[in-house]
Amino acid sequence: MTLKEKYSGVINYFKTNVPVAETELHYSNPFELIVAVILSAQCTDKRINQVTPKLFKDFPTAEVMAESNSDTIFSYIRSVSYPNNKAKHLVNMAKMLVTEFGGVVPSEINELVKLAGVGRKTANVVASVVYNKPAMAVDTHVFRVSNRLGLTKAKNALDSEMQLIKHIPKENIATAHHWLILHGRYTCLARSPKCEECKLTEWCDFFKTKKINKSFPHSLANKTKVMAKVNTTKISIPNKEKLATKKEPVKPAVKIKATEKKETKTKFIAHTTSLKVGDKAPAFIEKNQDGKLISLTDFKGKQVILYFYPKDSTPGCTMEACSLRDDHSILTKKNFITLGVSADDEKSHLKFATKHELPFSLLADTEMKIIKAYDVWGTKQFMGKIYDGIIRTTFVINDKGVIKHIITDVKTKEHANQILALS
Ligand code: SF4
Repeated sequence: MTLKEKYSGVINYFKTNVPVAETELHYSNPFELIVAVILSAQCTDKRINQVTPKLFKDFPTAEVMAESNSDTIFSYIRSVSYPNNKAKHLVNMAKMLVTEFGGVVPSEINELVKLAGVGRKTANVVASVVYNKPAMAVDTHVFRVSNRLGLTKAKNALDSEMQLIKHIPKENIATAHHWLILHGRYTCLARSPKCEECKLTEWCDFFKTKKINKSFPHSLANKTKVMAKVNTTKISIPNKEKLATKKEPVKPAVKIKATEKKETKTKFIAHTTSLKVGDKAPAFIEKNQDGKLISLTDFKGKQVILYFYPKDSTPGCTMEACSLRDDHSILTKKNFITLGVSADDEKSHLKFATKHELPFSLLADTEMKIIKAYDVWGTKQFMGKIYDGIIRTTFVINDKGVIKHIITDVKTKEHANQILALS
């Protein structure tokens, strides 16, 4: 299949099946959109849509916001991620809009990126969404999905952007950004892509490679068998094995061609908990961020969301915590108690919980007793690196103390929805 055919197949699929794809941020003019996009970095669109109505009402234009200061703006956006920096960016961005662009959001990328808090991705979003320019904003989803499909072979976001805009017809570029984001958010997940339900398999390089790997042990076994039969010159018996043949027959080692050696690489599989749905949830007692002892037995008659996350204040863990915070009232109404667990200490938890106004306990499992009891410590892979750490996992424990659900493919941005969808 040529690259042209691949692009054509993928675009036609999206055109037919996802004819409308647009941003989920709420805005009514270019100024509101640029503010919302700056705020949305490392935070959910849902959260941003909760804070922007009041912000837009009190600061409707760049001129009004430019007259304000970061402390005031902070008080409006304190519940989003990185509110200090974002408040400073918004005020400075508004000032630049007034002094350099007459209060009007520019439409050109090279002008947009001059604004405080506006990187290439934000500039592309504004240019494509507001001005319908053929600009491709590459975020983590666009980058991952494009590479997996084989639409791009990119090492960074800029590479990816350049390759995509080279091949996607101009009139489809702005929408293609949303197609790829949505596909990455709901189907082609980072850790566990849902290939079994994906309709793009015929064009997907990653899917094809995965299939080859799955069938590899069988096919290699056949190849080596055939080689052993037809080409005896490929068989060698090392000295030690020759000596051993007198006592017990030793299977001959088979020389494998270089091309076949390549195939012997096994796919990395991350550790997953050995606990199963239906198991009794291991008991625990540990201090939370306020130094209060929290025990599973405190919540008899309630459903407990026990979520394990790698580290306080990291982007993924912040998104996950903010998602559970944003839907906390819905979860509470449904009789859920939320408890976060990591190996961070109480001080770190307190800082994290205060900064993001988390309305639930974070347990300081510094000795990793709970982490080990729930078997969520193990080898994992991130950005190509393999190391040991906490495997992001959520256990939903029913009102009788039994594990009802185990979520290993956690969608950090929409984790609350993911849990609610199961209940
Ligand atoms: S087949 Fe799998 S890897 Fe390929 S795009 Fe679909 S979900 Fe992603």
